[in-house]
Amino acid sequence: MLTFVGGAGTVTGSKTLVDTAAGRILVDCGLFQGKKKLRLQNWEPLPVPADSIDAVLLTHAHLDHCGYLPRLSVLGFKGPVYCTAGTRKLAAIVLPDSGHLQEEEAAFANRVGYSKHHPALPLYTREEAVASLSQFQSVDFDTPLSVLPGLQATWHHAGHILGAGSIAVHCDESDTRAVFSGDLGRSTHPLLLPPEPIGPADVVIVESTYGDEEHTVSDPEEVMAEVISDTVRQGGVVIIPAFAVDRTEVVLWHLDRLVAAGRVPNLPIFVDSPMASRALKVYRSEARVGSPEFRPEVRGSGSELFGSIQLTETQTTDESKALNSRRGPMIIVSASGMATGGRVIHHLAHRIGDSRNAVLLVGFQAPGTRGDTLRQGARHIKMFGHHYPVRARVASIELSAHADRSDLLHWLGTASPPPHIVYVNHGEGDASAALVEAVEDQLGLDAVVARPGERVRFDRPIVPSGRPSL
Ligand SMILES: [Zn+2]
Repeated sequence: MLTFVGGAGTVTGSKTLVDTAAGRILVDCGLFQGKKKLRLQNWEPLPVPADSIDAVLLTHAHLDHCGYLPRLSVLGFKGPVYCTAGTRKLAAIVLPDSGHLQEEEAAFANRVGYSKHHPALPLYTREEAVASLSQFQSVDFDTPLSVLPGLQATWHHAGHILGAGSIAVHCDESDTRAVFSGDLGRSTHPLLLPPEPIGPADVVIVESTYGDEEHTVSDPEEVMAEVISDTVRQGGVVIIPAFAVDRTEVVLWHLDRLVAAGRVPNLPIFVDSPMASRALKVYRSEARVGSPEFRPEVRGSGSELFGSIQLTETQTTDESKALNSRRGPMIIVSASGMATGGRVIHHLAHRIGDSRNAVLLVGFQAPGTRGDTLRQGARHIKMFGHHYPVRARVASIELSAHADRSDLLHWLGTASPPPHIVYVNHGEGDASAALVEAVEDQLGLDAVVARPGERVRFDRPIVPSGRPSL
């Protein structure tokens, strides 16, 4: 039996319970994020007691897939958490940070008194997040793992971020195989191999973040080269807001290629985000040991990854502030990717009023974020309670770590033999509905949108004998 606990009808909170004769597992253990109504769902009770779950399988280290795990442990889950080595290392960065943010939010709520809990409590603390890491166990890609007697799981490259896998769960009793996509990447990821074919599947549970969208086909390096060259000529600074995990590496990879090819000058590049620095270290070490999820040309490059650029990683707040007095030309890559928080806000506040500078947005900007406001050409932007005039040039390129509709359909088309049903989850209503339609029309497969709380069987439906097949 599958139960869609979270990540159904929305893009966060991914959690699917799998109940079999062998026992009960949870595939992904994500945090609900975004609007308050969603975040409050993190406080709702689970449909089953936490201590009745035998094991958790994680597809990847983004918080919307793993960020509820410390809470599950606090609630009594004592079993193993299986994931790839890359996911384990990245989760060790993002989960304690998430606990720290939960504590800060609770402290803030207590100061201003807006919480309905008195006193406001963190969902989990940094310490609890660190404690939950002891339950993690690494698994290899493409190697079946015996999770429970009669239940195996195999991780296949998903090409989304380092460590990301789709998980095939095989249940001996019903001899059925359910494949969970997790988040799928694009075949164009410059560092990671594209998603692997599904192979045999009875049921596929697929994400639909971009189920109704096609990414634009354009060469990001053209725009990057032009914006950087133009800014360098004026002695300005290029600020690139970027997600700390994966996006920063992809940005650096493009910069490295542009410098190596002589298309832009070899100017100083600063990565100003402690979390991005820690993730960078993981990418470098995994590349050095030749992790099979990297493209062959990247494997074994180790410290040579991004070897053509003058890269400085700033760690302390003082080092970050010292960048303010540094004159261009230079590039600052800093989180967060949509300029909703983090150190990049300080750099924007300091530089955005100068027409010699540029802001390069490198991915999806959610409606209402500062990144979105800038992309739409706002003349002023609000930061720290002030409206700052936007005089710097604003340009944007699309470096998405997510498969678009064509990528999703391509991946689903690799199931052989095809599944009897495709459950579409991890998407907003329109995106999921659009993907269901496309799966039925273009692939001829049965597909439905997974509804929150819905329970479905994952063995093949029994067709009464003697009934004509349709
Ligand atoms: Zn993800």
